Amino acid sequence: MTTRIRVCHLYPDQLNIYADRGNIAVFRSRSERRGYELEVLGVGVGEVLARDCDLIYLGGGQDREQALIAPDLARRGEEISMALEDGAALLAVCGGYQLLGRGYRDRTGVEMLGAGVLPLETVAGDRRMIGDVSIECELEPDEMLTVVGFENHGGRTRLDPGAAPLGRVVHGFGNDGDSGFEGCRLGKAIGTYLHGPLLPRNPWLADWLLAQALGRRLGEVPELEPLDDELEYQAHAVALGRARERGGKFR
Ligand code: GLN
Repeated sequence: MTTRIRVCHLYPDQLNIYADRGNIAVFRSRSERRGYELEVLGVGVGEVLARDCDLIYLGGGQDREQALIAPDLARRGEEISMALEDGAALLAVCGGYQLLGRGYRDRTGVEMLGAGVLPLETVAGDRRMIGDVSIECELEPDEMLTVVGFENHGGRTRLDPGAAPLGRVVHGFGNDGDSGFEGCRLGKAIGTYLHGPLLPRNPWLADWLLAQALGRRLGEVPELEPLDDELEYQAHAVALGRARERGGKFR
């Protein structure tokens, strides 16, 4: 019988800038090429988040789209935290990442209450942080790997004391252009500012998230068979080269 991985894609119509939907396409391709079935359930405002969920996904959005969904997402804090306690993995990008914290104050001073799932809060600054980024990331002990992507955010995200970042910024701004860190990691939950979309050029991260999601479904995290990632790592190298050329620039 085929193992099914159930993904709950929150606010797919609102939180989908910079082709973040491409991350779902990568999850689907990397699952099906290994014989798994990927079931993706879109969850809009007021719609039910499936209880039996292996992976939760949120993309990024401009302040306007964030304001449209923020009240609904804020009400889901407890059910998302329960899904994580039940072993689900999570990936949230930029605007979705910000709203999983305690709150986001946009550039006009509008306060959006967050879901309170991730230990952080975000305040938008006057200048946007834009460009290619590379970070060093250690999701497994003694396995330091590079993640590359593109950032475009006005939000400055402050992690709570003791909260774990996704990685250390090598090129770019990251959470706030000051701390030297990017993203947030809470167990199997990852929040990040990296668009691109993120996963096509970081196949090892896609597989890590898929393995965590399968771990919930199968009872233990499987060793996924390797795929031919020649193209993916060429894309990774191009993005890394751009990040190296860039250096951090506020705009
Ligand atoms: N609107 C948020 C900001 O400007 C998030 C942007 C995004 O998702 N790229 O920081």
